[in-house]
Amino acid sequence: MTDLFNLSGRVAVVTGANTGIGQGIAVALAQAGADVVTVGRSPTDETRAMLPEGTRHHDIRTDLSTAAPAAGIVEEVVSTMGCIDILVNNAGIIRRADAVDFTEADWDAVMDTNLKSLFFLSQAAGRAMIGQGSGKIINVASLLSFQGGIRVSSYTAAKSGVAGLTKILANEWAAKGVNVNAIAPGYIETNNTTALREDPKRSADILGRIPAGRWGRPSDMGGAAVFLASSASDYVNGITLPVDGGWLAR
Ligand code: NAP
Repeated sequence: MTDLFNLSGRVAVVTGANTGIGQGIAVALAQAGADVVTVGRSPTDETRAMLPEGTRHHDIRTDLSTAAPAAGIVEEVVSTMGCIDILVNNAGIIRRADAVDFTEADWDAVMDTNLKSLFFLSQAAGRAMIGQGSGKIINVASLLSFQGGIRVSSYTAAKSGVAGLTKILANEWAAKGVNVNAIAPGYIETNNTTALREDPKRSADILGRIPAGRWGRPSDMGGAAVFLASSASDYVNGITLPVDGGWLAR
């Protein structure tokens, strides 16, 4: 049983791992034994300090708002760590405005980071994984992969797209040994939700609908990430797994 979830010797790449959900996932994968590569635009000292002692860690500092760095990231991972076994596409942004006021700049920024960059990094990783005959890709989706939300047009479009890409990549790569799945976090206490939590009405409305009775924490995403990164999920393909304290059950 233990071996099903053991990630010892696996190389896991996590984007946006300096804070929030990416940090929670990177730490959980490392606790399950994985070597970790953090990819993002901010320093990852805090995350590094949270990794179990002895974890092999490499940091790639790059901006994921375009697809340009994708191939280079995978090349650097393979040349420094030997291979790429797990990719967690976590980096993402959100822009809030009423649909009637939504700007093209806020549309493009979110679509480029949350969807386009995710696809091309998956493509680069997928090529390497198909070559080695195995791999796990985990996309960070959202409740807005299932629901419409409000005041977040580009975010809903991008996260609905993430659920779709998760399925098509799973269809194309499942038989080549590469599992592609997604996690849909519920409402989690991170920078992404600061504005919601600071709005007393929105905050109370949200909390009142969560069956678990609390907002999620980044560490709550760890178990699902380890499952989808490990051989425990070898026959799981193309799903978007809600980790939401029961929100979608309401
Ligand atoms: P967060 O604390 O704001 O973290 C977002 C991460 O993405 C940060 O590491 C950020 O880096 C990175 N990032 C953003 N733009 C980037 C860029 N251009 N290049 C490189 N890195 C970039 O928010 P979070 O809640 O943990 O979000 C992580 C993921 O979970 C996102 O995909 C988000 O949509 C998703 N999600 C969050 C929730 C929630 O309730 N919090 C719910 C569902 C889905 P910087 O620190 O440098 O900005």
